[in-house]
Amino acid sequence: MKGTFPTERFKDIQTPFYYYDTDLLRNTLEAIKAETGRHENFIVHYAVKANANPQLLTIIKNAGLGADCVSGGEIEAALAAGFTPSSIVYAGVGKSDWEINLALDKNIFCFNVESVPELEVINNLAASKGKTANVAFRINPNVGAHTHANITTGLAENKFGIAMRDMKDIIAKASKMENVKFIGLHFHIGSQILDMTDFLALCNRINEIQDELENRHIRIENINVGGGLGIDYEHPDRVAIPDFKSYFNTYERHLKLRPGQHVHFELGRSVVAQCGSLITKTLYIKQGATKQFAIVDAGMTDLIRPALYQAYHKIENISSDGPHEEYDIVGPICESSDVFAKQTVLNRTKRGDLLAIRSAGAYGEIMASQYNCRKLPRSYTSDGMRQGTLS
Ligand SMILES: *Cc1c(COP(=O)(O)O)cnc(C)c1O
Repeated sequence: MKGTFPTERFKDIQTPFYYYDTDLLRNTLEAIKAETGRHENFIVHYAVKANANPQLLTIIKNAGLGADCVSGGEIEAALAAGFTPSSIVYAGVGKSDWEINLALDKNIFCFNVESVPELEVINNLAASKGKTANVAFRINPNVGAHTHANITTGLAENKFGIAMRDMKDIIAKASKMENVKFIGLHFHIGSQILDMTDFLALCNRINEIQDELENRHIRIENINVGGGLGIDYEHPDRVAIPDFKSYFNTYERHLKLRPGQHVHFELGRSVVAQCGSLITKTLYIKQGATKQFAIVDAGMTDLIRPALYQAYHKIENISSDGPHEEYDIVGPICESSDVFAKQTVLNRTKRGDLLAIRSAGAYGEIMASQYNCRKLPRSYTSDGMRQGTLS
């Protein structure tokens, strides 16, 4: 499916760079709307940490999603893109004072609070401004996700959230505080989850928690189930849009809602991953003793997922139709882990050929670093290419 890349246009652009198919992003957002539109009480926030590229944020905001932020910088990025403060939720285990103050000054919708000391600080800072902060408690539901150990977050051993046994205490504490208002519970069990039974397990756990709280006459207005829906890294063209139907159906069928309750979702990867590719130029083909290497000009500084999580990304030579050959595709960074793929089949590759590292729209550009004094990768969109602005 190389036809989807404007390879000719790419020839004038300094590599490596991110290329975003903004039509696919809009279709993905339409698919989310198609599944949630009939539920007035389903509210989808985009997890800004997956990709804060201003052009993508604007498209996502225009589609009507809210924002899920995990830092003051992300709140600023979301506001700059036009997200309304009342659509912003703010999570994170280590919120600093300036970040809390920013969120209070901007009147965001809700803090997802992860500990009692944090709750106390929010209450104090809100008091000094004469404000009341909406808070939801992030509960660690002790539900595992069948995903990479580094990206499972909902087990008791993880640093995230409040243990279930401490939940009633923190709700009671909040009810005695003057400047916070308890408005709901928050969960997030991990990322790149493709097995719907993991989300089903979360629904069952939330149902238990609700019953228990109801027995104590505690009402929950908002249930935030987090994000975590995975994408198909093997088949970026065949499964370009994630299975939002199964995902939202799981919650629709299994989460027992009370009248008037709102369900919040925080989708990151599933919104933006498939629309992005890292485009890199082949510098050298090096014949090793037992294999050949394609040495490219992108490295782990541009896309760290393979080095950090041993993540798989499909890679295609978008300049060649030659016969298939096997390559190890490696970057120029002085680290042995700077490898994008081992023993991967490409069309015969030569110096100058462009490769597309697919499904790189989430946790790609945003995680780029300047290690080795490298330049940060630039980015282009299909909209920009059509308009000829190359931006
Ligand atoms: C990372 C994160 C998300 C988004 O996760 P995805 O797997 O990208 O959908 C949502 N909520 C919280 C609290 C997160 O930390």
